Amino acid sequence: MSFIPYGKQDITQQDIDSVVSVLTSDYLTQGPKVPAFENALCQYTGSKYALAVNSATSALHIACLSLGLGKGDWLWTTPISFVASANCGLYCGAKVDFVDIDPLTYNLCPSALEEKLKQAEQQNRLPKVIVAVHLCGQSCDMKSIKRLADQFNVRVIEDASHAIGGKYLGEAIGGNQFADITVFSFHPVKIITTAEGGVATTNCQDLAQKMELFRSHGVTRDSDLLQNEADGAWYYEQLALGFNYRMTDLQAALGLSQIQRLDEFVSKRHELSRRYDSALAGLPVRLPQKHEDTYSGLHLYVIRLKLDEIELTRKQVFDQLRQADIGVNVHYIPIHTQPYYQDLGFSRGDFPQAEKYYAEAISLPMFHLMTEAQQSRVIDALKSIVGPS
Ligand SMILES: *Cc1c(COP(=O)(O)O)cnc(C)c1O
Repeated sequence: MSFIPYGKQDITQQDIDSVVSVLTSDYLTQGPKVPAFENALCQYTGSKYALAVNSATSALHIACLSLGLGKGDWLWTTPISFVASANCGLYCGAKVDFVDIDPLTYNLCPSALEEKLKQAEQQNRLPKVIVAVHLCGQSCDMKSIKRLADQFNVRVIEDASHAIGGKYLGEAIGGNQFADITVFSFHPVKIITTAEGGVATTNCQDLAQKMELFRSHGVTRDSDLLQNEADGAWYYEQLALGFNYRMTDLQAALGLSQIQRLDEFVSKRHELSRRYDSALAGLPVRLPQKHEDTYSGLHLYVIRLKLDEIELTRKQVFDQLRQADIGVNVHYIPIHTQPYYQDLGFSRGDFPQAEKYYAEAISLPMFHLMTEAQQSRVIDALKSIVGPS
């Protein structure tokens, strides 16, 4: 029996041809493919601006910088995410704190947020930025988060690394109706891929200009931005301390080719999810909740074991699935329990809903090329481990 990964890219001959044609063209990077990919992302999401970069981590960093996050500021996010959602605040010299999750959606909980904002206001330590992570591809309750953000004058970044192709209230995620900036990841385990890569979308010209500077050394040739008279056609100015976070044309060509199949990728994920939903319905597991406001990108299919109804621990169930060559995974270890964050002063017990979720969660394999037979193997294995004997 062969190993079934939890996620895997789908690369076609068209994808390969697109990349090879860039390889034999004049520009391997900083050519026409990056702006073309950015245009395609604007078209798809409905956002005005898109800045493609070399990872979602870089996109989060320049998003925070463009919002002015710095020393003395706070960034808040959810403990149930990849560490990058929080690290971006630390990169800027800001302090990071967390808001516990909603026990049904597993996303940042708006009522916990409201309570924490009220306390922070009294202590004069309101955050500058909230990073709302759309876990598994399902949008956070952005209406509530945006209402609170406006009330307390906080800026919002959507970390939609899991969510490209998803919708919130009928609109594509990334359109920024409820956020200042949205970030997507194109790592191969995500929904579409550029190998490494990410993007930040925004409707604000000022934020777009700042992110463009931070993406490439803080340097510009744009005559509208230059502070001095140009010395000549070679002239450029460094206006900020930026980085080299650029995406290459090779990556953008792959992204352009992949985005054509994005809707097909997401609808296949929904097909797989529906089959899991019906096949696992009788088992002692909690299946993913689908909120009526959302159409998920379905990067992940996470089940929660009802540990009081089975004799096994999460680790035992996980290990038995791995022994059956099923590449289950866990998303995520609560960020505040990581040693690095414990050294910053966080403790176990700080965010009980997140920690309870972590004790029960297992991500089942789900990817575009997953066959019915592979999915049956996952279902049968899980049934034989936790089902009635
Ligand atoms: C994958 C991921 C990231 C980081 O993406 P990279 O493109 O690998 O930098 C950030 N946040 C979340 C929620 C992710 O899943």
